[in-house]
Amino acid sequence: MSIRRLPETLVNRIAAGEVVERPASALKELVENALDAGARRIGVSLAGGGISGLSVTDDGIGIARDELPLALERHATSKLPDEHIEAVETLGFRGEALPSIASVATLAIESRQAGADGWSIRCDNGVLEAVQPCATPPGTRVRVDGLFARIPARRKFLRSERSEYAACLDIVRRLAMARPDVGFSLEHDGRRVLSLPPEQDREDRVAQLIDRELADNHVIVALEREGTMLTGVASLPTFHRGAADHQYLFVNGRPVRDKLLVGAVRGAYADFVARDRHPVLALFVDMPLGEVDVNVHPAKTEVRFRDPTFIRGMIVSGLRRALDQAGMRVVQQPDAASTALWQREFVPVEGETQAPIPPTFSPTFGGQAGWGRVREAQARFAGFEPAARAEAAEALPVASADHPLGVARGQVARTYIVAEAEDGLVIVDQHAAHERLVLERMRKALSNGAVARQTLLLPEVVELDEPACDRIEARVDELAELGLEVERFGPAAILVRAAPAMLGAGDIQGLVRDLGDDLAALGDAISLKGRLDLVAATMACHGSVRAGRVLSVPEMNALLREMEVTPHSGQCNHGRPTWIKLAHGDIEKLFGRH
Ligand code: ADP
Ligand code: MG
Repeated sequence: MSIRRLPETLVNRIAAGEVVERPASALKELVENALDAGARRIGVSLAGGGISGLSVTDDGIGIARDELPLALERHATSKLPDEHIEAVETLGFRGEALPSIASVATLAIESRQAGADGWSIRCDNGVLEAVQPCATPPGTRVRVDGLFARIPARRKFLRSERSEYAACLDIVRRLAMARPDVGFSLEHDGRRVLSLPPEQDREDRVAQLIDRELADNHVIVALEREGTMLTGVASLPTFHRGAADHQYLFVNGRPVRDKLLVGAVRGAYADFVARDRHPVLALFVDMPLGEVDVNVHPAKTEVRFRDPTFIRGMIVSGLRRALDQAGMRVVQQPDAASTALWQREFVPVEGETQAPIPPTFSPTFGGQAGWGRVREAQARFAGFEPAARAEAAEALPVASADHPLGVARGQVARTYIVAEAEDGLVIVDQHAAHERLVLERMRKALSNGAVARQTLLLPEVVELDEPACDRIEARVDELAELGLEVERFGPAAILVRAAPAMLGAGDIQGLVRDLGDDLAALGDAISLKGRLDLVAATMACHGSVRAGRVLSVPEMNALLREMEVTPHSGQCNHGRPTWIKLAHGDIEKLFGRH
């Protein structure tokens, strides 16, 4: 076969394979174009998850009549300054997006420059039509209809309208977070989903997009090193979610995904947040253009840092510093001294300068980070704040062999139950234990039918983003079996009518929000019963016996008694012990009495 040049339409379609995978990727290109055009307000409208149609309207500089056909031509761009590809500051510059999209859909542009008339152009699956006059406000509107409608082989790879919509929402969120100075609105099937005014503060924008409660629960990150700036908003250690989906990274104003972020965040919060809990944050790195290559991937969501270790280090230090300044202690790494502490008096650690732990600081975890908890408890001792509470119970019961876990004598650091057993001192991690009990109770209840529910006096409304509501709605029956009676309440809220009785007066808001995250992590295929450990962990995390909660002596004893009769209660759902015992002999050794 002889070599021949590919026809333009075919070249565009091949490029479309890279640039346009789904409605969300087309949407990303269009919104980026609007930003590049200096828009102050951007309106996005979607139909059927963006599959049937999507449009992006901006009030930017517009496109001149003569340039409309050029905009749809491959490798035609207004953004490459003097062929210096390294110096590109705009989001686009390949001149590929519009012709690629237009080769696999119907694309229509209406545009008007200030002081000129409006013009429109259409391109139907690669076939360009003539420029027409049109009445339109200054700026540009680009409509894309019937993506892949003529290419069944590509269309069949699209997912449900719901998932395509979720991907579109994610794109708009990320870009809106990157540019709090620009107003954004998003409409899906005629319904307003987002409405963000221009000139917002970054904190407000991020909180409005991730979780409104973040507004009161964040620290500000700001660090500069060698010409690189790290800024952003990060949640307090006590505010976290069940998935790492709410961690956003931006490099030189572009939303990017990089595994580096997850690891660095984990490192920075290691002492504060359990391994299966994830802080919520948006971090912005601004660095010299030569230090980062944003041109790695055609869809440009990946970056290549010249020195990833440096960036990682900056994120860890920036976050730690911000958390420190918020009055949190960054506790030292575990070391041999932790255990040796048992053998010394508790004295304030030398050179201790941190402020006392504020009363709002309470450890919250999903049953992980046992050591973190021990260290936290130590920190409380070292930080002068007495955190132990011993309550004289009326008629103290006597420890007996019938009760191997003993009789509760008090609570330490609102986390550990201290009990006296016949043969020694027992320390129980109340949260880990409770998590385990919830799992075992659920197993038992399910084998007898369903988990008992407690109807709420007042149904509770939990506001969540739409994809999370969709996921919960799809599992209504399964959740009911697990004792949680919920129903959809408008587009972005869930109404909770009943909760599992075993949870007591728990935190319904947090529970439902985390279940939304859990379901995202599970995907559609796995049943909730199949991951009962996960559900139980999430439920226990928001139940009334969580870490950080003060328990009465009868409550503590009830927990101990239940543990004694529950199978596997000696280990938490993650395999760590839920209680430890110091035998009398061990205690004597500690005091040198042997
Ligand atoms: P690129 O963004 O890489 O230049 P595109 O195919 O996305 O390539 O767009 C081609 C050109 O069309 C751009 O360089 C720009 O000049 C023009 N253009 C596209 N969208 C807009 C818009 N919303 N406002 C003004 N000009 C636009
Ligand atoms: Mg572009």
